[in-house]
Amino acid sequence: MLIGTHALVFTGTFDAAGLRRAIEGTAQAGFDLVEIPLMDPDSFDSHLARRLLDDTDLRVTASLGLTEATDLSSEDPAVVAAGEAMLTRCLDHLATMGGDVLCGVIYSAMRKYSSPATAAGVAASQAALGRLAVAARERGIRLSLEVVNRYESNVMNTARGGLAFLDGIGDPEVSLHLDSYHMNIEEPDMWQPVLDAADRLGYVHIGESHRGYLGTGSVDFDSFFRALDRAGYDGPVVFESFSSAVVSPELSTTLGIWRNLWQDSDDLAAHANRFIRGRLHAVRTIALH
Ligand code: MN
Repeated sequence: MLIGTHALVFTGTFDAAGLRRAIEGTAQAGFDLVEIPLMDPDSFDSHLARRLLDDTDLRVTASLGLTEATDLSSEDPAVVAAGEAMLTRCLDHLATMGGDVLCGVIYSAMRKYSSPATAAGVAASQAALGRLAVAARERGIRLSLEVVNRYESNVMNTARGGLAFLDGIGDPEVSLHLDSYHMNIEEPDMWQPVLDAADRLGYVHIGESHRGYLGTGSVDFDSFFRALDRAGYDGPVVFESFSSAVVSPELSTTLGIWRNLWQDSDDLAAHANRFIRGRLHAVRTIALH
């Protein structure tokens, strides 16, 4: 099981200095893996990222949320094609970096919609993701679709909804990506959805209810980590936290990061690494009871 952190814990800009800060900070905090956002693949230097990663033992994954211009759930075929092309560029970047999972809101725009998803839009997204799964497989990458709350997508907001969406893609290697922050908003509890999705769970985000320090909000991490253990989950577990202390031009406004919940990225990351590993270590002993 790989324990990681989102790079936005350290930087909101992914130029050379930002990449260096994120990769060095992630390694220094004790993580196994860094998740790099590819919101702007046109300006991203994946060859540089690969060189910086090669100086560490870190594994890498990538994530993003689509925009209105690249929304796979659009009823406009030109927008879907733009999204497919953009995600293919992200797959190329991730392959260059040596990563094996592309995750996040890669099935719709990451934004608040003003109406429900349409059947045609959902079908368009599923068809595009079926083609992208083939392109990903050719590059040694698997896709994992992040279930997010109602203010960030209208396509799927619960694990149950995510499983139904996966059924429409029909590719067994496309998995669900669950995030404790979103689950805390939408799910009945933090246990049952993990068990329901166990066979299709491919990626996990660990976020607090306010996206700050783990253990200072209302997420029921006791149930969540027990559920991951009970489900036999063995994939990446990645910390995600956002504060106005670190600003991303693309992500901070989309996610509504208006408050400063922490100042010190290194302290936050080291604490999260200890928190996640401590919980996982403890729940493994339940098998002895
Ligand atoms: Mn997340």
